Amino acid sequence: MCIKKEIEIIVLLSLELYFRDPQKYLIEADLQMFIEPNIRNTKKGWIEVVCGSMFSGKTEELIRRLKRAQIANLKVEIFKPTVDVRYDENDIVSHNDNRIPSTPVENSQQILLLAQDVAVVGIDEAQFFDEEMPMVAEKLASRGIRVIVAGLDMDFLGRPFGPMPAVLAMADYVTKLHAICVVCGDIANFSYRKSASEAMVLLGEKDVYEPRCRTCYHQQ
Ligand SMILES: [Zn+2]
Repeated sequence: MCIKKEIEIIVLLSLELYFRDPQKYLIEADLQMFIEPNIRNTKKGWIEVVCGSMFSGKTEELIRRLKRAQIANLKVEIFKPTVDVRYDENDIVSHNDNRIPSTPVENSQQILLLAQDVAVVGIDEAQFFDEEMPMVAEKLASRGIRVIVAGLDMDFLGRPFGPMPAVLAMADYVTKLHAICVVCGDIANFSYRKSASEAMVLLGEKDVYEPRCRTCYHQQ
């Protein structure tokens, strides 16, 4: 079969799937895997950001990308802010208990000092870092390092979170993941806080936050 015919069939199948069940199709589209533009890093750095609400699988996706880099024999360093010691002092752990060793740091400048002689730098819970973090990512990328930043794009009040807007603007690649709304089952991009506490750093446990779609988030 010629390529043109194959492409035609793929397009028709996608359209049919979309019209049969648009919601399911969009959720599956959300799960399409990120393919590294160039996994054997040829000293050309870049910044990629994985963002989304609580329970959207950001850390899971960060770990997947970092493990692929390790399989490719690239030296990887992972940093997280010291504020995030939810599950483990030194590991980055996803909700599925997938884990990878990391270094907790007090501020983003420390990453510049500690990330020596590496090909890939992972930064988890990036929303809790200081406003210097996007420039730190930029400096690392200009050293030829692949920088993978994962973080919440919005806080529980629906506002852009800390340094995330800036790093999203500066990134070469952006992946926005979605959770599933616990109220109606649609795709969710808001983190609804069930507790009355106003503190900004209240780390994500299932009894404090739940993912909600826009409609259910506003019907508090
Ligand atoms: Zn909903």
